[in-house]
Amino acid sequence: RSNTEKFEFQAEVSRLMDIIINSLYSNKDIFLRELISNASDALDKIRFLSLTDKEILGEGDSTKLEILIKLDKEKKILSIRDRGIGMTKEDLIKNLGTIAKSGTSAFVEKMQTSGDLNLIGQFGVGFYSVYLVADYVEVISKHNDDKQYVWESKADGAFAISEDTWNEPLGRGTEIRLHLREEAGEYLEENKLRELVKKYSEFINFPINMWASKEVDVEVPADEDESSDEEESSSESSSSEEETEEEDTEKGEDEEKKPKTKKVKETTYEWELLNDVKAIWLRNPKEVTDEEYTKFYHSLAKDFSDEKPLAWSHFTAEGDVEFKAVLFVPPKAPHDLYESYYNSNISNLKLYVRRVFISDEFDELLPKYLSFLKGLIDSDTLPLNVSREMLQQHASLKTIKKKLIRKALDMIRRIADEDPDESTDKDKKDEKSVDDDEKRGQYTKFWNEFGKSIKLGIVEDATNRNRLAKLLRFESTKSDGKLTSLDQYISRMKPGQKDIFYLTGTSKEQLEKSPFLERLKKKNFEVIFFTDPVDEYLMQYLMDYEDKKFQNVSKEGLKLGKDGKDKELKESFKDLTKWWKKALSSDNVDDVKISNRLDNTPCVVVTSKFGWSANMERIMQSQTL
Ligand code: ADP
Ligand code: MG
Repeated sequence: RSNTEKFEFQAEVSRLMDIIINSLYSNKDIFLRELISNASDALDKIRFLSLTDKEILGEGDSTKLEILIKLDKEKKILSIRDRGIGMTKEDLIKNLGTIAKSGTSAFVEKMQTSGDLNLIGQFGVGFYSVYLVADYVEVISKHNDDKQYVWESKADGAFAISEDTWNEPLGRGTEIRLHLREEAGEYLEENKLRELVKKYSEFINFPINMWASKEVDVEVPADEDESSDEEESSSESSSSEEETEEEDTEKGEDEEKKPKTKKVKETTYEWELLNDVKAIWLRNPKEVTDEEYTKFYHSLAKDFSDEKPLAWSHFTAEGDVEFKAVLFVPPKAPHDLYESYYNSNISNLKLYVRRVFISDEFDELLPKYLSFLKGLIDSDTLPLNVSREMLQQHASLKTIKKKLIRKALDMIRRIADEDPDESTDKDKKDEKSVDDDEKRGQYTKFWNEFGKSIKLGIVEDATNRNRLAKLLRFESTKSDGKLTSLDQYISRMKPGQKDIFYLTGTSKEQLEKSPFLERLKKKNFEVIFFTDPVDEYLMQYLMDYEDKKFQNVSKEGLKLGKDGKDKELKESFKDLTKWWKKALSSDNVDDVKISNRLDNTPCVVVTSKFGWSANMERIMQSQTL
């Protein structure tokens, strides 16, 4: 062809394709759900644009927002077509090969260690999974703003783009043609495709139709019967018709006894709907099973691990702003959740307005610290026919956000409430029931994955600080190597103890040896260990909890209750402290004081009440290096 241009894949993309082609990964099925997911995204996009511009859908079949699957057994081609937004020539070049997404190298890296190919969609490179089953792929696409183009590649490091002058015009949308590998023949079986769509693409919001064969009974003249007895299939039926005439005369006398016509099976083709388009969030939560929620989560989050979400919340908000929402706590944090926390949008909820997908790029729906949640909201209150920018500024979003945060925090608290390991009640903790077993240890799991988010929430969200503090977990001098909570700490406080004591540092082992602990331990006070760098920031915002102040035991002003001798001691060592302070000069210390926090250690350097702790100094230093 004369109008063909060649391009090289971006290096990381090329490596990714090599990995996929050479993969021994056995679950090759995943390519189909990735293609259907892309088709669905493309349909969402055109539907959204059509809200403000009806013309954009065109006319005739182009207005049908659907996904079409066709099989060609002879040529071994499986094709998946959508009437979505399509891709311009430039889109094809950029999206399918030359611009590597941030997830590309992360995924390549992951695959080289212990990666699960199943998670490809989460990394934003799902398209390339086609090379699990195909050795040659064509992408034919027509966008309203451009001519029809063909992208094609044999995954040999290069792809080609040509203006499409030979295929049937698509109208609008994209057709992916997979030339299947020898061993991937099963994807030409209709039943296999039915099964896969059912399994992976149940929650796609557009009809998925397959050009499927169907056995139908047709009436044919009875005589025909004998000559074509062994022929069940209709493809041969025309040839047998020719034979009927000459046989007519021979069998003439039997005609009366026999019926005039006979039923024969014939194969015809028609579009068969493979999914029932159902919006789970519109259903009554009581009627949705756990399994359905789990499957919905998998498709929403593109998380096809076998794990269940840790929790979900499905509710309807009423009042000024009405909406339905489903929120999920994923079983695992995404690979880059805290990598560039303040600059990246890890995930945003999917926003629908009256069943129409609007965007998953609104960060006005949830605060940053809850961006690990997955879910969707569907509102009847928001306007449909305005631009994304206008919608983004809509006053209702504030109300929605407030409600979502509340519900999200309730949902997280429920993980703890339902976890028998979290119970302070010893009997309940040891009780064994099948129901509890599923929930046991779930909060620790949550904490290990997302604890940092809760801490960042305490820093960011003053309104919900107390609610978030309830969710905090940490180790302490009395937690026995396990995690404990502020409520549990308070329940163990000694009579007369006013403050909550804590110490910050790099590890529990280091803190346990700290001289700051000596006296507190001896007096049987519990001290919290904060060992995560983020804890220092956290404690600058978390001043009190349930009317109890937090007291860093490495800082000045630690009061352990009076023992009467303070004043006396201060007086008798006055000369020593004065001399010492002078000897060190004010460049080195602010003050020298008599302390009641030590037991064996003779003296200790303490930081001032309002300054940085020694640990914070350490963190700040390591950051400037
Ligand atoms: P992701 O879907 O996560 O963006 P993919 O690798 O699956 O990653 O797809 C890459 C990009 O190619 C998509 O973001 C989209 O821009 C484009 N694309 C893929 N399939 C289609 C399609 N059927 N219609 C329109 N664009 C598509
Ligand atoms: Mg995709």
